[in-house]
Amino acid sequence: MTAKCTRCRDKAVIELRRHNAAFCKPCFLHFFREQVKRAIDKEDMLSPPDRVLVAVSGGKDSLALWDVLVELGYDATGYHIVLWTGEDYASDSLAHTQAFADERGLKLIVHDLKEERDFTIPELRKATGRSTCGGCGLVKRHEISKAAADLGFDAVAIGHNLDDEAAVLLGNVLRWDAQYLSRQSPVLAGDDGFVKKVKPLYRLTERETAAYAFLRGIDYQVEECPLVAGNTQLRYKAVLDAIERTSPGAKAAFYQGFLDHGREHFEGSDHVELRACASCGMPTPNEVCSFCRMVEQVDKSRA
Ligand code: SF4
Ligand code: ZN
Repeated sequence: MTAKCTRCRDKAVIELRRHNAAFCKPCFLHFFREQVKRAIDKEDMLSPPDRVLVAVSGGKDSLALWDVLVELGYDATGYHIVLWTGEDYASDSLAHTQAFADERGLKLIVHDLKEERDFTIPELRKATGRSTCGGCGLVKRHEISKAAADLGFDAVAIGHNLDDEAAVLLGNVLRWDAQYLSRQSPVLAGDDGFVKKVKPLYRLTERETAAYAFLRGIDYQVEECPLVAGNTQLRYKAVLDAIERTSPGAKAAFYQGFLDHGREHFEGSDHVELRACASCGMPTPNEVCSFCRMVEQVDKSRA
Protein backbone atom coordinates (compact mmCIF):
# COMPACT_ATOMS: atom_id res chain seq x y z
CA MET A 1 0.00 0.00 0.00
CA THR A 2 1.41 3.39 -1.00
CA ALA A 3 -1.12 5.55 0.87
CA LYS A 4 0.03 7.72 3.72
CA CYS A 5 -1.54 7.76 7.17
CA THR A 6 -4.23 10.44 7.33
CA ARG A 7 -3.24 11.27 10.90
CA CYS A 8 0.61 11.29 10.94
CA ARG A 9 1.64 10.96 7.23
CA ASP A 10 3.65 7.79 7.94
CA LYS A 11 3.19 4.77 5.65
CA ALA A 12 -0.37 3.45 5.97
CA VAL A 13 -1.11 -0.23 6.64
CA ILE A 14 -4.88 -0.04 6.18
CA GLU A 15 -7.24 2.03 4.08
CA LEU A 16 -10.79 2.72 5.29
CA ARG A 17 -12.83 3.84 2.30
CA ARG A 18 -15.93 4.53 4.37
CA HIS A 19 -13.98 7.13 6.34
CA ASN A 20 -11.98 8.29 3.33
CA ALA A 21 -8.90 7.63 5.47
CA ALA A 22 -5.80 5.46 5.77
CA PHE A 23 -3.83 4.67 8.93
CA CYS A 24 -0.43 3.41 10.02
CA LYS A 25 -0.44 0.78 12.78
CA PRO A 26 -0.35 3.08 15.87
CA CYS A 27 -2.90 5.48 14.37
CA PHE A 28 -5.26 2.64 13.40
CA LEU A 29 -5.10 1.24 16.96
CA HIS A 30 -5.81 4.77 18.22
CA PHE A 31 -8.74 5.11 15.80
CA PHE A 32 -10.14 1.74 16.92
CA ARG A 33 -9.97 2.61 20.64
CA GLU A 34 -11.53 6.02 19.97
CA GLN A 35 -14.45 4.37 18.16
CA VAL A 36 -15.00 2.05 21.12
CA LYS A 37 -14.76 4.95 23.59
CA ARG A 38 -17.22 6.95 21.51
CA ALA A 39 -19.65 4.01 21.40
CA ILE A 40 -19.43 3.55 25.17
CA ASP A 41 -19.93 7.28 25.89
CA LYS A 42 -22.60 7.93 23.25
CA GLU A 43 -24.79 5.05 24.36
CA ASP A 44 -23.92 5.34 28.04
CA MET A 45 -22.76 1.71 28.16
CA LEU A 46 -20.23 1.48 30.99
CA SER A 47 -18.53 3.51 33.66
CA PRO A 48 -15.01 2.67 34.90
CA PRO A 49 -15.90 0.93 38.19
CA ASP A 50 -18.27 -1.48 36.42
CA ARG A 51 -17.43 -5.18 36.54
CA VAL A 52 -17.93 -6.44 33.00
CA LEU A 53 -18.45 -10.04 31.91
CA VAL A 54 -17.23 -10.39 28.30
CA ALA A 55 -18.66 -13.20 26.15
CA VAL A 56 -15.61 -14.74 24.47
CA SER A 57 -15.78 -17.44 21.83
CA GLY A 58 -12.10 -17.41 20.82
CA GLY A 59 -12.89 -15.59 17.54
CA LYS A 60 -11.54 -12.21 16.45
CA ASP A 61 -14.47 -10.05 17.56
CA SER A 62 -14.77 -11.29 21.12
CA LEU A 63 -11.02 -11.37 21.77
CA ALA A 64 -10.57 -7.91 20.22
CA LEU A 65 -13.39 -6.65 22.46
CA TRP A 66 -11.85 -8.15 25.60
CA ASP A 67 -8.46 -6.72 24.64
CA VAL A 68 -9.72 -3.20 23.98
CA LEU A 69 -11.83 -3.10 27.16
CA VAL A 70 -8.79 -4.06 29.22
CA GLU A 71 -6.70 -1.48 27.32
CA LEU A 72 -9.31 1.16 28.18
CA GLY A 73 -9.02 0.24 31.86
CA TYR A 74 -12.22 -1.74 32.43
CA ASP A 75 -12.44 -4.58 34.94
CA ALA A 76 -13.29 -7.22 32.32
CA THR A 77 -13.63 -10.95 33.02
CA GLY A 78 -13.99 -13.41 30.15
CA TYR A 79 -16.82 -15.93 29.95
CA HIS A 80 -16.47 -18.88 27.58
CA ILE A 81 -19.09 -21.52 26.98
CA VAL A 82 -17.92 -24.90 25.74
CA LEU A 83 -20.67 -25.75 23.28
CA TRP A 84 -21.58 -28.86 21.37
CA THR A 85 -20.43 -27.49 18.02
CA GLY A 86 -18.16 -30.40 17.15
CA GLU A 87 -15.29 -31.84 19.16
CA ASP A 88 -12.35 -30.24 17.32
CA TYR A 89 -13.96 -26.85 16.85
CA ALA A 90 -15.06 -26.60 20.50
CA SER A 91 -11.66 -27.57 21.92
CA ASP A 92 -9.90 -25.18 19.52
CA SER A 93 -12.22 -22.31 20.61
CA LEU A 94 -11.39 -22.99 24.24
CA ALA A 95 -7.65 -23.28 23.53
CA HIS A 96 -7.53 -19.85 21.82
CA THR A 97 -9.56 -18.24 24.60
CA GLN A 98 -7.54 -19.83 27.39
CA ALA A 99 -4.20 -18.91 25.77
CA PHE A 100 -5.32 -15.29 25.34
CA ALA A 101 -6.32 -15.07 29.02
CA ASP A 102 -3.18 -16.83 30.29
CA GLU A 103 -0.78 -14.67 28.24
CA ARG A 104 -2.34 -11.49 29.64
CA GLY A 105 -3.10 -12.73 33.16
CA LEU A 106 -6.84 -12.14 32.72
CA LYS A 107 -9.62 -13.86 34.62
CA LEU A 108 -11.60 -16.34 32.54
CA ILE A 109 -14.70 -18.28 33.55
CA VAL A 110 -15.20 -21.45 31.52
CA HIS A 111 -18.67 -22.94 31.52
CA ASP A 112 -18.59 -26.47 30.14
CA LEU A 113 -22.11 -27.02 28.87
CA LYS A 114 -20.96 -30.07 26.96
CA GLU A 115 -20.10 -31.62 30.28
CA GLU A 116 -23.19 -30.32 32.11
CA ARG A 117 -25.91 -31.30 29.62
CA ASP A 118 -25.28 -34.07 27.20
CA PHE A 119 -27.23 -32.92 24.15
CA THR A 120 -25.77 -31.41 20.99
CA ILE A 121 -26.74 -28.28 19.04
CA PRO A 122 -28.00 -30.36 16.05
CA GLU A 123 -30.11 -32.33 18.54
CA LEU A 124 -31.64 -29.08 19.77
CA ARG A 125 -32.63 -28.26 16.21
CA LYS A 126 -34.29 -31.64 15.68
CA ALA A 127 -36.19 -31.56 18.96
CA THR A 128 -37.38 -27.95 18.80
CA GLY A 129 -37.56 -27.04 15.12
CA ARG A 130 -35.46 -23.94 15.79
CA SER A 131 -32.65 -23.14 13.38
CA THR A 132 -29.22 -24.39 14.48
CA CYS A 133 -27.89 -20.90 15.17
CA GLY A 134 -31.23 -19.80 16.67
CA GLY A 135 -31.06 -22.59 19.26
CA CYS A 136 -27.37 -22.05 19.91
CA GLY A 137 -27.88 -18.28 20.29
CA LEU A 138 -30.66 -18.84 22.81
CA VAL A 139 -28.41 -21.15 24.86
CA LYS A 140 -25.56 -18.62 24.83
CA ARG A 141 -27.78 -15.64 25.76
CA HIS A 142 -29.41 -17.54 28.59
CA GLU A 143 -26.21 -18.89 30.07
CA ILE A 144 -24.26 -15.63 30.07
CA SER A 145 -27.22 -13.61 31.39
CA LYS A 146 -27.67 -16.11 34.20
CA ALA A 147 -23.96 -16.19 35.04
CA ALA A 148 -23.76 -12.37 35.10
CA ALA A 149 -26.80 -12.11 37.38
CA ASP A 150 -25.65 -14.93 39.70
CA LEU A 151 -22.12 -13.53 39.99
CA GLY A 152 -23.16 -9.89 40.45
CA PHE A 153 -21.60 -8.38 37.29
CA ASP A 154 -22.71 -4.87 36.28
CA ALA A 155 -22.77 -5.55 32.55
CA VAL A 156 -22.37 -8.20 29.89
CA ALA A 157 -20.31 -7.18 26.83
CA ILE A 158 -20.86 -8.87 23.47
CA GLY A 159 -18.50 -8.62 20.47
CA HIS A 160 -21.15 -7.83 17.85
CA ASN A 161 -19.71 -5.48 15.23
CA LEU A 162 -21.34 -3.15 12.71
CA ASP A 163 -21.72 -5.95 10.13
CA ASP A 164 -23.56 -8.13 12.67
CA GLU A 165 -25.88 -5.34 13.78
CA ALA A 166 -26.61 -4.15 10.24
CA ALA A 167 -27.41 -7.75 9.15
CA VAL A 168 -29.81 -8.21 12.09
CA LEU A 169 -31.43 -4.86 11.26
CA LEU A 170 -31.87 -5.86 7.61
CA GLY A 171 -33.58 -9.10 8.71
CA ASN A 172 -35.86 -7.22 11.12
CA VAL A 173 -36.75 -4.62 8.48
CA LEU A 174 -37.47 -7.25 5.82
CA ARG A 175 -40.06 -8.71 8.20
CA TRP A 176 -41.01 -5.33 9.75
CA ASP A 177 -40.71 -7.08 13.08
CA ALA A 178 -41.76 -4.27 15.43
CA GLN A 179 -40.92 -6.19 18.58
CA TYR A 180 -37.36 -6.98 17.51
CA LEU A 181 -36.89 -3.48 16.06
CA SER A 182 -37.91 -1.95 19.38
CA ARG A 183 -35.26 -4.02 21.13
CA GLN A 184 -32.45 -3.62 18.58
CA SER A 185 -29.88 -1.44 20.28
CA PRO A 186 -26.17 -1.45 21.12
CA VAL A 187 -27.20 -1.30 24.77
CA LEU A 188 -30.01 -3.14 26.52
CA ALA A 189 -30.65 -1.61 29.90
CA GLY A 190 -30.53 -3.98 32.85
CA ASP A 191 -33.85 -4.33 34.62
CA ASP A 192 -36.31 -6.95 35.89
CA GLY A 193 -33.44 -9.25 36.89
CA PHE A 194 -31.51 -8.87 33.63
CA VAL A 195 -27.97 -7.50 33.70
CA LYS A 196 -27.28 -4.66 31.24
CA LYS A 197 -26.00 -5.90 27.84
CA VAL A 198 -23.65 -3.78 25.73
CA LYS A 199 -22.05 -4.02 22.27
CA PRO A 200 -19.06 -1.64 22.27
CA LEU A 201 -17.87 -2.69 18.77
CA TYR A 202 -21.05 -1.57 17.01
CA ARG A 203 -19.28 1.34 15.26
CA LEU A 204 -16.55 -0.93 13.80
CA THR A 205 -16.80 -3.31 10.85
CA GLU A 206 -15.76 -6.95 10.76
CA ARG A 207 -12.74 -6.01 8.62
CA GLU A 208 -11.67 -3.35 11.12
CA THR A 209 -12.02 -5.75 14.03
CA ALA A 210 -9.97 -8.39 12.18
CA ALA A 211 -7.29 -5.76 11.45
CA TYR A 212 -7.22 -4.73 15.12
CA ALA A 213 -6.84 -8.36 16.26
CA PHE A 214 -4.08 -8.94 13.72
CA LEU A 215 -2.17 -5.74 14.57
CA ARG A 216 -2.45 -6.46 18.30
CA GLY A 217 -0.97 -9.93 17.74
CA ILE A 218 -4.09 -11.72 18.96
CA ASP A 219 -4.05 -15.41 18.05
CA TYR A 220 -7.75 -15.95 17.38
CA GLN A 221 -9.66 -18.92 16.00
CA VAL A 222 -9.90 -18.45 12.24
CA GLU A 223 -12.00 -21.53 11.34
CA GLU A 224 -15.73 -21.03 11.06
CA CYS A 225 -18.13 -23.03 13.18
CA PRO A 226 -18.95 -26.29 11.33
CA LEU A 227 -22.67 -25.65 11.96
CA VAL A 228 -22.81 -22.17 10.38
CA ALA A 229 -24.22 -23.32 6.99
CA GLY A 230 -27.73 -21.98 6.49
CA ASN A 231 -27.26 -19.04 8.87
CA THR A 232 -29.56 -16.35 7.43
CA GLN A 233 -27.40 -13.55 8.81
CA LEU A 234 -24.60 -14.59 6.46
CA ARG A 235 -26.89 -14.02 3.48
CA TYR A 236 -27.87 -10.56 4.75
CA LYS A 237 -24.19 -9.76 5.31
CA ALA A 238 -23.39 -10.71 1.72
CA VAL A 239 -26.11 -8.34 0.46
CA LEU A 240 -24.83 -5.49 2.62
CA ASP A 241 -21.22 -6.19 1.56
CA ALA A 242 -22.26 -5.90 -2.08
CA ILE A 243 -23.88 -2.50 -1.40
CA GLU A 244 -20.88 -1.35 0.65
CA ARG A 245 -18.49 -2.18 -2.19
CA THR A 246 -20.09 0.42 -4.46
CA SER A 247 -21.25 2.80 -1.70
CA PRO A 248 -18.64 2.91 1.08
CA GLY A 249 -20.29 3.89 4.36
CA ALA A 250 -23.74 2.54 3.39
CA LYS A 251 -23.71 -0.08 6.16
CA ALA A 252 -22.90 2.46 8.87
CA ALA A 253 -25.46 4.93 7.48
CA PHE A 254 -28.13 2.19 7.49
CA TYR A 255 -27.51 1.15 11.10
CA GLN A 256 -26.68 4.56 12.58
CA GLY A 257 -29.66 6.07 10.73
CA PHE A 258 -31.91 3.52 12.41
CA LEU A 259 -30.48 4.36 15.85
CA ASP A 260 -30.87 8.11 15.24
CA HIS A 261 -34.21 8.26 13.43
CA GLY A 262 -35.90 4.85 13.28
CA ARG A 263 -35.64 3.17 16.66
CA GLU A 264 -37.79 5.74 18.48
CA HIS A 265 -40.81 4.82 16.32
CA PHE A 266 -40.79 1.27 17.62
CA GLU A 267 -40.23 1.97 21.29
CA GLY A 268 -42.83 0.37 23.54
CA SER A 269 -43.71 -2.38 21.03
CA ASP A 270 -42.06 -4.97 23.23
CA HIS A 271 -43.49 -4.16 26.63
CA VAL A 272 -44.26 -7.40 28.50
CA GLU A 273 -44.60 -8.22 32.18
CA LEU A 274 -41.79 -10.46 33.36
CA ARG A 275 -41.66 -13.02 36.18
CA ALA A 276 -39.11 -15.55 37.39
CA CYS A 277 -38.86 -18.78 35.35
CA ALA A 278 -40.26 -21.64 37.44
CA SER A 279 -37.29 -23.75 36.49
CA CYS A 280 -34.18 -21.53 36.41
CA GLY A 281 -35.33 -18.26 38.01
CA MET A 282 -34.40 -16.04 35.05
CA PRO A 283 -36.91 -13.34 34.01
CA THR A 284 -39.45 -14.46 31.41
CA PRO A 285 -42.92 -13.44 30.21
CA ASN A 286 -44.06 -17.08 30.57
CA GLU A 287 -44.10 -19.53 33.42
CA VAL A 288 -41.02 -21.29 32.06
CA CYS A 289 -38.37 -19.44 29.99
CA SER A 290 -37.59 -20.35 26.35
CA PHE A 291 -34.29 -21.95 27.34
CA CYS A 292 -35.85 -24.26 29.92
CA ARG A 293 -38.71 -25.09 27.51
CA MET A 294 -36.13 -26.02 24.90
CA VAL A 295 -34.33 -28.32 27.36
CA GLU A 296 -37.69 -29.94 28.27
CA GLN A 297 -38.41 -30.53 24.57
CA VAL A 298 -35.09 -32.30 24.10
CA ASP A 299 -35.70 -34.47 27.17
CA LYS A 300 -39.17 -35.36 25.89
CA SER A 301 -37.95 -36.18 22.40
CA ARG A 302 -35.46 -38.59 23.96
CA ALA A 303 -38.03 -40.23 26.17
FE1 SF4 B 1 -23.67 -21.43 17.41
FE2 SF4 B 1 -24.33 -20.93 14.86
FE3 SF4 B 1 -22.36 -19.57 16.06
FE4 SF4 B 1 -22.03 -22.15 15.45
S1 SF4 B 1 -22.33 -20.47 13.99
S2 SF4 B 1 -21.46 -21.15 17.39
S3 SF4 B 1 -24.09 -22.94 15.81
S4 SF4 B 1 -24.53 -19.52 16.62
ZN1 ZN C 1 -35.63 -20.95 32.76
